[in-house]
Amino acid sequence: MSIVKNSPVWRPFTQHALQPNAFKVSHAKGARLELVDGRQFIDAISSWWVITHGHCQPEIMQAIAEQAQILDQVIFAGFTHEPAEKLAHRLLEFSPKGLEYVFYSDSGSTSVEVAIKMALGFWLNRGEPRTKIVALEHGYHGDTIGAMSVGARSSFNAPYEPLLFDVERIPFPTKGSEQNTLDALEIACRLKPAAFIVEPLIVGAGGMLIYSAQTLAEMYKICAKYNVLFIADEVMTGFGRTGTLFACEQAHITPDIACYAKGLTGGAIPLAVTMCRREIFEAHYAKDRARAFFHSSSFMANPLACAAALANLELWEKTETHQFLSKICLAQKSYIERFSRDKRFKNARSIGTISALDLNTKSSSYLSTISIDLMAFFNDLGILLRPLGSTIYVLPPYCASMQELELIYNAIDAAGEKFSNIV
Ligand SMILES: *Cc1c(COP(=O)(O)O)cnc(C)c1O
Repeated sequence: MSIVKNSPVWRPFTQHALQPNAFKVSHAKGARLELVDGRQFIDAISSWWVITHGHCQPEIMQAIAEQAQILDQVIFAGFTHEPAEKLAHRLLEFSPKGLEYVFYSDSGSTSVEVAIKMALGFWLNRGEPRTKIVALEHGYHGDTIGAMSVGARSSFNAPYEPLLFDVERIPFPTKGSEQNTLDALEIACRLKPAAFIVEPLIVGAGGMLIYSAQTLAEMYKICAKYNVLFIADEVMTGFGRTGTLFACEQAHITPDIACYAKGLTGGAIPLAVTMCRREIFEAHYAKDRARAFFHSSSFMANPLACAAALANLELWEKTETHQFLSKICLAQKSYIERFSRDKRFKNARSIGTISALDLNTKSSSYLSTISIDLMAFFNDLGILLRPLGSTIYVLPPYCASMQELELIYNAIDAAGEKFSNIV
């Protein structure tokens, strides 16, 4: 009953021959999912990193319901509406100072495509065309062709490789070899690329790899020195995930272009923005129609989604929200520390609300079955975790209780017992 079989639905990142079934969720609240048969799951990865405060957060759901009585989708060329205008102003208040324009779209991948197109348009319209993009090793920016191109090459995009464009890649700044990264970035910047795109402070899908705010600040400085546009992909890190509203705050930088999506509506409904500095907008501003920014999404600035995002920003003005955030950050840090000297695991780490550790095992590539075996093991315990290869990470909604975290980490402990090579 709670497992869907023989469905015509084609699910994401799923080999249906190996994973033919899916759990059928009936409702969700806080950090819990409930299946149609009443079974519960703790959503330890915020439903693929989107849910920030918790599932069905009342103010956000209320805002959507109210907006749904008034205005549905309207064309966004030549027309606008209050939720979109108000949200844009509010986003300027909350984002790093210097981001002055807001371009709406509907997913993280699209916000990245928009960022890349903005960067190219900027240089072309200034009469100094530049097309090269510099990116960080292991980066992930989405699954559309452009976003895949700037992301790391892996078995996930190998089938599409012939269509992906060339990117200059610099090594990930592993602890102790940050200078290598900075040197590589400086060399790349001398060749006048259009932009550098980076996930600030933590590379997510690439393995939950953390680097310092200082390194982020230094990468920014190099880009500024060589006049290379700095694109911060905060699709995952945005809205509290790294302990501050935006990861860039920790490095005290304002990117030239910033991408926000997942947590923008608290995760309730799709919405994305690409925010940019005035210069980028102005490079496209002319009486010449050919210099306009040529991008649109059918569902740009959907009023329901904008209302949800406004309610989300309201929540970020409440002390209570920040208390939840500090509490989860502290808890995550102390829970993961339990595993720091545990031989069954390696590299126990955390930043803000995110923790991760690598299982000591022989098979570690994402396509090896270890991740599927681990996932099934956690599912049996009623915990939604989706390891990246042998990397187990916990990225919970901020409302997760200490009891829920306890259950998650007990499950990880049990997984160590069952799956690690070291006993
Ligand atoms: C998830 C993610 C994306 C893609 O977002 P979608 O909404 O899934 O298209 C882009 N960048 C980063 C850093 C992400 O984590």
